[in-house]
Amino acid sequence: MENLAPREGLIERIYWLIRLRWIAVAGVIFTVLFAEKIVNIPLQSLTLYAIAAVLGVYNLIFFLYLNRIKRNNPPDLPTVANRVANIQISFDLLSLTALVHFSGGIENPFVYYFIFHMIIASILLSRRASYLQATLAAFLFILMVGMEYFNILKHYHLEGFVSYSLHTNKIYIVGISFVFISTLYLAVYMATSISVKLRQKEKILKEANLLLEEKDRIKSNYVLRVSHDIKEHLSAIQGCLDPVLQGLTGELNPGQKDLVRRSSERTGKLMSFVKALLEITRIKLSKEMETGPFSLRKTVENAVNFVEARAKDKDIRLSYNIDPAVDIITGAQIYIEETIANLLANSVKYTPKGGKIEMKIKDKGDRVLIQLSDTGIGIPKDEIPRVFEEFYRARNAKEMERDGTGLGLAIAKEVVEKHKGKIWVESEEGKGSTFSILLPK
Ligand code: ADP
Repeated sequence: MENLAPREGLIERIYWLIRLRWIAVAGVIFTVLFAEKIVNIPLQSLTLYAIAAVLGVYNLIFFLYLNRIKRNNPPDLPTVANRVANIQISFDLLSLTALVHFSGGIENPFVYYFIFHMIIASILLSRRASYLQATLAAFLFILMVGMEYFNILKHYHLEGFVSYSLHTNKIYIVGISFVFISTLYLAVYMATSISVKLRQKEKILKEANLLLEEKDRIKSNYVLRVSHDIKEHLSAIQGCLDPVLQGLTGELNPGQKDLVRRSSERTGKLMSFVKALLEITRIKLSKEMETGPFSLRKTVENAVNFVEARAKDKDIRLSYNIDPAVDIITGAQIYIEETIANLLANSVKYTPKGGKIEMKIKDKGDRVLIQLSDTGIGIPKDEIPRVFEEFYRARNAKEMERDGTGLGLAIAKEVVEKHKGKIWVESEEGKGSTFSILLPK
């Protein structure tokens, strides 16, 4: 069986149709006003406005209904969504027929707007349903034209637009009907050919993506296990080296001491790397973080305390300013504190002596903006897009600081994205950088 638009895809597309319908309501009102007031074509304006109102009302009802079924998320959601899409398109065809009938019938060039509905149907519905909608459109058209021809329905002549009424002109009616109906079916044929292929491709891509996600999860689990083991061994090595270095196992000669000290230093660095790797892997694997309300003010103060001494050592002026409106937000406090501390530590690390670091926390309604500027080495323009990648370090950073994991910003990005926030950087090499985090409150 041919695939319908995938589950979430279909719902989104129905919302898109609802948005389009608001435009259609405005379009009808504007067109009637324009035709009457600017080009002086007398119209059944009240009736046309009433149809626009009906269009608006059922659009609102569909919107509310869709919100409800989306919230309840029933197991047969795709079937329900499909039915809703079908009903909406049929309603639209009825409304359009009514609009056209009250504004000239076959004389009105807006009859070709039926084609849009065929394209919409082909995007939203199955091929069979799209052809059924084309048949409904053809039927409504023939019904309207026929009833106007046989005087069962009143014909509203578009005076001033066409010189004399065309609704009784047989040749005209047959010609237009033929062109109109064949265009409907051709539109459905073309649009469904494309959209069915696109849907198949979308499905293949989705499956491939799921497979990749699964592989990534397996890889992350593997990394987690291995780095956890390495960390244990490193702790044991560190535990052996420390007492030797402290002289608890007897006095060392300078050569021995130097070797043990270097081993201990390297172990420490390796430990930081493994810890960072463990952390990013854990965050990636966790579906959601444990969150709760906390004071952002206090969190910022903690993060500043963490780097203050290092900044002082380098004679760096460190200041921060928190908007009084900002205080309690909801999130994973420890991770947010660590993220801010990491950014601050980077600024201290990559700012030469005597520089300046400034942090501003601004209230942005339902979000907060954390902005951190430094007068450091900056990031080369071509490397800016890459600094949030795992293990990436810019060339000027590597020249300035040999040590670094290239994981700090990747962790920050994961944390911020898990909070549905945004993180970005603006930077100029040699002048400084501004890191920004936008977090929902
Ligand atoms: P690390 O600092 O360990 O290298 P990060 O992931 O924290 O790794 O940062 C990635 C890279 O982003 C750094 O190597 C550096 O090139 C760049 N970077 C981060 N913060 C700054 C900063 N404040 N100024 C200049 N470059 C920065």
